[in-house]
Amino acid sequence: MAMQQYEGGCQCGAVRFKAEVDLDGLIVCNCSRCGRTGAMMAFTAPDKFELTAGEGATREYVFNTGKIHHPFCTTCGIEAYGHGVGPRGPMVMVNARCIDDVDVHTLQAKPFDGKNKL
Ligand SMILES: [Zn+2]
Repeated sequence: MAMQQYEGGCQCGAVRFKAEVDLDGLIVCNCSRCGRTGAMMAFTAPDKFELTAGEGATREYVFNTGKIHHPFCTTCGIEAYGHGVGPRGPMVMVNARCIDDVDVHTLQAKPFDGKNKL
């Protein structure tokens, strides 16, 4: 696979996005948040992500260093994406589980030891 254009969103549909991501190279993390939510994360540049619906439909959670914003839908609670500054600069995280029509059982992700490295 390679970088490809996808659409997705939260469970109830209030939050919708378009994003160009590579579904190979997904990451799962064991930090205090990801370890609980189970997000399978793809990272992309901010200019490859467009929030098409949901401005004002989310609340944001921040923790640890506060560098990453975790907007979750105030209706259904799902965090479909996140954004902030990563090791290589500004980035957007897309939860691959929130991409339309993706078969979540076919997704594969590499573990990242966020519990000890964040
Ligand atoms: Zn929702």
